[in-house]
Amino acid sequence: MRPRDLSDHVEYRAGRGIEEVARELGRDPEEFVKLASNENMFGPSPAATEAIEASADEVHHYPTADHQDLTAALAEQWGVTDEQVWLANGGDGALDYLHRATLEPGDDVLVPTPGFSYYGMSARFHHGDVSEYDVSKPDGFELSDERVLDAYDGERVVYLTSPHNPSGGRFALDDVERIADETAEETLVVVDEAYGEFTEAPSAVSLLGERDDVDESHSSASRAPRDDVAVLRTFSKAYGLAGLRLGYALVPEAWADAYARVNTPFAASFLACRAGLAALEDGAHVERTVDTARWSRDYMAEHVAAPTYESHGNFLLVDVGDATAVAEAMRERGVIVRDCSSFGLPECVRITCGTKAETKRAVRELNEVIGE
Ligand code: PMP
Repeated sequence: MRPRDLSDHVEYRAGRGIEEVARELGRDPEEFVKLASNENMFGPSPAATEAIEASADEVHHYPTADHQDLTAALAEQWGVTDEQVWLANGGDGALDYLHRATLEPGDDVLVPTPGFSYYGMSARFHHGDVSEYDVSKPDGFELSDERVLDAYDGERVVYLTSPHNPSGGRFALDDVERIADETAEETLVVVDEAYGEFTEAPSAVSLLGERDDVDESHSSASRAPRDDVAVLRTFSKAYGLAGLRLGYALVPEAWADAYARVNTPFAASFLACRAGLAALEDGAHVERTVDTARWSRDYMAEHVAAPTYESHGNFLLVDVGDATAVAEAMRERGVIVRDCSSFGLPECVRITCGTKAETKRAVRELNEVIGE
């Protein structure tokens, strides 16, 4: 017995951590800083760490009430019902659930290129095929309704990453709405807000509820909650819980009964739920993270001696010419950045916003490498 033919499926390769890189180079892990996976520069909220420690002797229980408590807290935060919150094993897990709930054999998903690879991977696992819309242009990137609608051909799911990984650009809410309006009734528009905390733009979650921010010239229909938009959020970035794997989708009200039919039993771990709830309540930690990320991306954009692209996320895309060579030279100098060749951008590296000291170190090293 062998696995079925998986040759059509792309391999997912997670970025290497400090330990792996240090081992490979025969160096001390202490010498390195990792600015490659858009993680939180301050680590988890101390409240989340405390919650994990306090919960350690209860891990023999299945997560039940914890799951409900976190769901209820998120529902309250976003002004949706508990049934509209689909907790999952990371944002990745939430994507799987959305595909289970939408895709039938032969259905396609429309994804941005360059873009986050797991949309397509997950779609393929769920019998979907993948088509792409290009968001690049000669001098940068364009995230617009036009780019999406020009490529749209009746796909069942359309992905809008906002802020977009790896460019840092974002979709205007009006464009999201227009895309949802102009695509077929059976098409779900998924707005991936994995980096949503880092932008000042409003969340597309407002489209799932009654809208009171539309102007009077809009028809009353545009005020009604939409049933063709879902939003993806994660605890991996601003909340600093990437290792716990906790994310969620916010789905239309009409989908209320679907979650129980598509979710993996105990979709989020007990520790993840407890830590997630504690992290959610520690607004100060998120604020400090977001403030520092904004400082960091501005600092990098101003001081890096290479072209950069405006970012609304906790990272900055830099055009360095030869990404692989620059990422390797940076690694030698102890700063791990993301070589974006795998995104189809062999000239760019993506640098995660670090602490002030990390950011200054990254800029200093990068400028020396570029100047060599
Ligand atoms: N969407 C985007 C655009 C991402 O970059 C990521 C993670 N890198 C995710 C979703 C998923 O994040 P997670 O599974 O850690 O919640």
